[in-house]
Amino acid sequence: MMRLPPFRYLAPVSVTDAVKLMADHGPEAMLVAGGTDLYPNMKRRQFEPTVLVGLRGVRDLTGVRREGTGALAIAAGTTLTAVSRHPEVRARYSALAIAAGAVSTPQLRNMGTIGGNVCVDTRCNYYNQSYQWRKAVNFCMKKDGEICLVAPGSPRCWAVSSSDTAPVLWSLGASVRLAGPAGERTIPIAALYQDDGIQYLTKQPGEIVTEILLPPADGLRSVYLKLRRRGSFDFPVLGVAVALTIDGETVSRARIVLGAVASLPREAAEAGRLLVGQRLGPELIARVADAVARPAKPLDNTDLTHPYRKKMTRVFVARALRRLAGLPEETE
Ligand SMILES: Cc1cc2nc3c(=O)[nH]c(=O)nc-3n(C[C@H](O)[C@H](O)[C@H](O)COP(=O)(O)OP(=O)(O)OC[C@H]3O[C@@H](n4cnc5c(N)ncnc54)[C@H](O)[C@@H]3O)c2cc1C
Ligand code: SF4
Repeated sequence: MMRLPPFRYLAPVSVTDAVKLMADHGPEAMLVAGGTDLYPNMKRRQFEPTVLVGLRGVRDLTGVRREGTGALAIAAGTTLTAVSRHPEVRARYSALAIAAGAVSTPQLRNMGTIGGNVCVDTRCNYYNQSYQWRKAVNFCMKKDGEICLVAPGSPRCWAVSSSDTAPVLWSLGASVRLAGPAGERTIPIAALYQDDGIQYLTKQPGEIVTEILLPPADGLRSVYLKLRRRGSFDFPVLGVAVALTIDGETVSRARIVLGAVASLPREAAEAGRLLVGQRLGPELIARVADAVARPAKPLDNTDLTHPYRKKMTRVFVARALRRLAGLPEETE
């Protein structure tokens, strides 16, 4: 049995106190929300904090509210179950309800939070293993080692962004509110990520995600499709998030973002542009699906083979667009 290493658990009741505790303890400390990702990772010694700053007792970090600007603000400590069941999320941002409801299992969704989900660690077959397993292969540069075992000549880590909600939030044009020692700031969620399997977040380690802000939906249609081996429990090995607005018969805004294909969610910007100003019919859908799949280069470091995942990118994008167009799925 894998055991947790010893650590001190601090339980602030306000964001201000949590920020201060993180600053006081520096690199020794990590934030923990539901702990559904961090605790297993600590058991495998992928992280070895001696102090955990727990966010579960911070009252301001739960709940969903409407801002004066019309944005929907989801506090970072809101559980995935609550997000997936929230009536306004279901009605106006349906892809987010689908993605939050597709994470792992009901037990983990009852504990896991949306803040933890957008910050969740990147994954790789050579890294998500026990300490002994990793030691037997001489470790890799993400933790304890020198080289990348997937691409030994590479100077960087290619571990895969595996959050279900991150690509969806990006497609919906969401922002994140951060609190840190220098105060509060709000950035587009796209700016929270960078293409590096180790430093996959741009925020400072002591900064706390306090809220996710969704812009007014205004006729937005959205969907999320997830590829994984089992219908439950598993992380995505491909996530396809599509959000678009159709005015009359014409697409006026479109964003397609892929999950689990790189160290960050990957927007297919060119494919999104192909949709704008057009009528969403079968021919356009086929062209857009090709445009998304062509540059997609999944690596051989997650479940299922990478050629299969590349093929499925095309299939899933077409399926998602057909669903939003109200076309039957079988004829794609
Ligand atoms: C068996 C299993 C299956 C899983 N399947 C999936 C899946 O299908 N899809 C998926 O997306 N995830 C999956 N997960 C991962 C995890 O359960 C979810 O991502 C969950 O949403 C994490 O939220 P949490 O609150 O438990 O985060 P925690 O484990 O508490 O934290 C995760 C990371 O986020 C940081 N963090 C947490 N909250 C904040 C905050 N407010 N501000 C800044 N940093 C913060 C922590 O420091 C840590 O680095 C799975 C995990 C397990 C064990
Ligand atoms: S991509 Fe390479 S460095 Fe990164 S976790 Fe996998 S083997 Fe390690």
